[in-house]
Amino acid sequence: MKSKLIVQKFGGSSVANTEKIKNVANRIAAAKRLGYDVVAVVSAQGDTTDELEQKALEITAKPPEREMDMLMSTGEQISCALMAMAVSHLGLEAISFTGQQVGILTDEIHTKAKIKKINGQRIRKALGQGKVVIVAGFQGVNADQDITTLGRGGSDLTAVALAYSLKADVCEIYTDVEGIYTTDPRKVKEAKKLREITFDEMLEMASLGAQVMQARSIEVARRYNIPLHVRSSFSKEEGTMIVKKTNKLEDIVVSGVTCNKNEAKITIRSVPDKPGVAALIFTEIASAGANVDVIVQNVSEQKTTDISFTVPKPELSKALAAAEKIAGEIKAGEVNSDKTIARVSIVGSGMRSHQGIAAKMFKALAAHKINIEMITTSEISISCIIKEVQVDAAVQALHAAFELEKIQ
Ligand code: ADP
Ligand code: ASP
Ligand code: MG
Repeated sequence: MKSKLIVQKFGGSSVANTEKIKNVANRIAAAKRLGYDVVAVVSAQGDTTDELEQKALEITAKPPEREMDMLMSTGEQISCALMAMAVSHLGLEAISFTGQQVGILTDEIHTKAKIKKINGQRIRKALGQGKVVIVAGFQGVNADQDITTLGRGGSDLTAVALAYSLKADVCEIYTDVEGIYTTDPRKVKEAKKLREITFDEMLEMASLGAQVMQARSIEVARRYNIPLHVRSSFSKEEGTMIVKKTNKLEDIVVSGVTCNKNEAKITIRSVPDKPGVAALIFTEIASAGANVDVIVQNVSEQKTTDISFTVPKPELSKALAAAEKIAGEIKAGEVNSDKTIARVSIVGSGMRSHQGIAAKMFKALAAHKINIEMITTSEISISCIIKEVQVDAAVQALHAAFELEKIQ
């Protein structure tokens, strides 16, 4: 009978040092000894990726993106070689591969490439020979065979994409916490581990700042309905299943609180209030390559408006330059930016069918004297832009207000 295939992904903190690599090797070996064919995807050790990025920034503020990918992908190459050695040392046959060697083909967009195709030939062959396969996460190659990377947190995507392409029976994401919690368990001690969460909720939480899973990996898992088991590499406890539909009779109204400190706000004052002006502004910002998110327009009586919007902090300088240029062209007033803001969000599928959730959120923030600067909603989330210094208090307040510590 053909063995079942398991894809296991181990994050940076799970492979941060020799002892941890040996711990992970033991888990991989245990799965193999249970009779699984094992493909393990590994991230760079600890803070390696950040350190590599820092080295580049010490040389130039704007490193060429192709060279950034050459550099950033090396962290995973180290981990996969060490992991293959550690598994071999346990008496199993193991082989490590880079993204290129297993044929992870991507588009041309360096530093956030999209996977186009996986030619898993070498993986299948090695599995057929009884070997444990260790794959370097976060990387692929473009049509010119240049190394590309899949965006920060991209090893999650490597694992999900391999699980899909190899038709794995199980996909496990091992990390440094025991699963997906109602909020970051390192920040809020009342955070509760969820037994299950839907792809939709996880995607929303990831997009709104919960670091634990890369948002793009959840999009792929949702598209191909690949259930993910997120669990700790340091304990045997069951973690959280990310699935299409949970077993709950009714959706939980609010299942998580997230925050994102990586946004900044730009305001253009005295914008002429006439048709086509917003289109001009946001076309300019988009062509500068900045991703605009929350937009708020305050209508005034003098035929002008103030327009505020948020962008990711790393894109602030290019967005600001574009905003200043277009403000001059349309004869708007001054342009300001504010890096001291953050976003706090609540997420839950049950919001689709419950009223009064926004009111409860605003009340909880008000009770803690937290001023809301901007608001945005989706079908299953509500976000408020507030002052960054208040965001940790806001997360605590919302976690308590929605009694998330009581979630079963
Ligand atoms: P890895 O190195 O395994 O990829 P990450 O550092 O990317 O791990 O993600 C795990 C971290 O995500 C946890 O240590 C935790 O602090 C953070 N986190 C944020 N929000 C949540 C959440 N809702 N549930 C679990 N962990 C969360
Ligand atoms: N090492 C990469 C990062 O830190 C990819 C990953 O860990 O998933 O973003
Ligand atoms: Mg991660």
